[in-house]
Amino acid sequence: STTSTSADGGTLRMGTNATFPPYEFVGDDGNVQGIDVDIAAAIADKLGMKLEVTDMEFDSLIPALQSDTIDVALAGMTVTPDRQENVDFSDSYAKGVQVIIVKDGSDIASPDDLEGKNIGVQTGTTGDIYCTGDYGQEHVKQFNNGPLAVAALVNDQIDCVVIDQEPAKNYVAANSGLKILDTAYADEDYAIAIKKGNTELLDKVNGALKELQDDGTVQSIVDKYITT
Ligand code: GLN
Repeated sequence: STTSTSADGGTLRMGTNATFPPYEFVGDDGNVQGIDVDIAAAIADKLGMKLEVTDMEFDSLIPALQSDTIDVALAGMTVTPDRQENVDFSDSYAKGVQVIIVKDGSDIASPDDLEGKNIGVQTGTTGDIYCTGDYGQEHVKQFNNGPLAVAALVNDQIDCVVIDQEPAKNYVAANSGLKILDTAYADEDYAIAIKKGNTELLDKVNGALKELQDDGTVQSIVDKYITT
């Protein structure tokens, strides 16, 4: 867990899963960094709070909000109706895209070819939820994080990985012989999750986020990590 400069307004406890570059990853200095950390730090700064970042499994983030272990989850988390029953979401701060990673030479050329294939996903993510719904649990292999799913693809234990586009680009760059299919699986919105009913914090976060969007801070944070 890493802590930024202190302030008077208390601590904003952020949970994330730091296997999701460039949104969150463990930097060379051992600290969790990335787009989500910078956005949370900017929000904390606006609120006069100190930011504390805790790295955990993606699937643990919503329970951690519910048990008050963390105040906000920033983890490239997609807004979904099911999650909205368990947590509140801020306004969206980024677009997400679910893509398909295959090995070079794969017979999977588009989402239409996934029927009957063994699909790797990160447990509890939208890739997991969509693929389980579309193809059945027996065709979906869950991993605790993206790099583990990609390693299984490299080792021919699965036929493809369905995962978010920006981390996918990082994983493909880090492993030879992989590619991302041109046709995406789904488009989605990322937002900050907050304990259900904590409207005081939700309103503060949305207020800060709007200022940071309006003055270009959010875009400049994204541009710092994503060069297209
Ligand atoms: N966007 C995906 C989701 O919300 C994956 C997020 C992640 O793995 N950090 O389910």
